[in-house]
Amino acid sequence: MMMNAVQYEESLRKLNLKVYMFGQRVTNVVDDPIIRPSMNAVAQTYELAHKPEHEDIMTAVSHLTGKKINRFTHIHQNVTDLVKKSKMGRLMGAHTGCCFQRCVGMDALNALSMTTYDIDQKYGTGYNARFLEYLLYVQENDLTCDGAMTDPKGDRSLAPHQQHDPDLYLRVVAEKPDGIVVRGAKAHQTGAVNSHEIIVMPTLTMRPADSDYAISFALPADADGITYIIGRQSCDTRKLEGKTFDIGNVLYGGHEALVVFDDVFVPWDRVFMYREYDFSGQLVEQFASYHRQSYACKVGVGDVLIGAAQTIAEFNGTDKTSHVRDKIIEMNQLNETLFCGTIACASEGHREPSGTYSVNTLLANVHKQNVTRFPYEIARLAQDIAGGLMVTLPSEKDLDSPEVGQWIRKYFQTREDVPLENRMRILRLIENLTLGTAAVGYLTESMHGAGSPQAQRIMISRQANMSIKVKQARKLCGISEND
Ligand code: SF4
Ligand code: FE
Repeated sequence: MMMNAVQYEESLRKLNLKVYMFGQRVTNVVDDPIIRPSMNAVAQTYELAHKPEHEDIMTAVSHLTGKKINRFTHIHQNVTDLVKKSKMGRLMGAHTGCCFQRCVGMDALNALSMTTYDIDQKYGTGYNARFLEYLLYVQENDLTCDGAMTDPKGDRSLAPHQQHDPDLYLRVVAEKPDGIVVRGAKAHQTGAVNSHEIIVMPTLTMRPADSDYAISFALPADADGITYIIGRQSCDTRKLEGKTFDIGNVLYGGHEALVVFDDVFVPWDRVFMYREYDFSGQLVEQFASYHRQSYACKVGVGDVLIGAAQTIAEFNGTDKTSHVRDKIIEMNQLNETLFCGTIACASEGHREPSGTYSVNTLLANVHKQNVTRFPYEIARLAQDIAGGLMVTLPSEKDLDSPEVGQWIRKYFQTREDVPLENRMRILRLIENLTLGTAAVGYLTESMHGAGSPQAQRIMISRQANMSIKVKQARKLCGISEND
């Protein structure tokens, strides 16, 4: 059954997550004013799937059941599916103006559909059948999954088994007849407390000595022994002020969390990789490539920021000046270049042995590398157009003050026909996207999400076919093969 936003919210209420924020247990996660906007963003992945105008992008036909499902639970069956996934990311990013969190689970499911198959081919194991059972459960119940890859990693110069604390990478600590016991943590987990399930994968290529760490599994998000510690964001407590427009994005947001696994039991039917260290690198690469494609989301958020920059220019009366018009063109050119990348890696996708379609690895990495840069330039141009008031603007409470409100109204008025409240709202949105809570998603996550810039550069150097380029250059200028 495809849930809608209300059903999704109700389904989260049934979970008993152990969540901490500001040193205290959050007993009602769904209604917490800091977390709730992020839940609302995920809820839109459910809601838009029921809109006829978005049905083609937001839904797909399950290859397991033939039923209509939410695309976030779909395994890509062809290149068109991959292209629609990219378009879905932009659509959702523009709709929410933030990280809508559900892509990591989709990317984990797709990567596991390939890796479990390939492990079985080599070792005669039964992971793929087990995974498909799990996938069926996710599709039939329209679940949101947290795809958990990044370990805390401790001393970066040491392998997992060499760390002074062996738990700095998540590992198996005991094997039982009916499953395994795991310990460790996953950091920076996007949307963790809005998820029904958590899918754990290793974080890097492993060697034999690290086989305890070469594990992948899925658990209900409220399994015994899992604790979530919410990461704080710049300006997060503005959501507690009881006012609205200082928040910037008054509808949606995102969150990340540190997820701790303190000796958590995983039954065998939820284990998708167990000590096959030689496949950990493949799983990381396949998940990372999909997730780098998923940074189509930033194109959608860029759309919002460009719209906000145009709006403040109009409110200030600067929109007709040639330099502002040119800056808007520049923002669009950068943003559409990002769109080219996410569409290209999808269009150049291919079929893997399991039948799942995967993106072009080189182009997905080039796309994500561009994402580590262009949103910063788009943000710089937006701040240029917005002017300094974006960071010197008094609060909404000052506007309401009987003493000083009149001065704010008098001196921050621009065009006579523009209500000051609207000018303040749009400035706060630009602040939100470039400095506040959404800057986590639009800027820092563009830098480090789906792997930091250097991770993509390593993949680019591996994937760029240098010998052909060198050969062709030499041929054209007459250097013979034997020189
Ligand atoms: Fe999805 Fe983008 Fe958020 Fe990653 S950063 S979960 S790709 S919306
Ligand atoms: Fe991400």
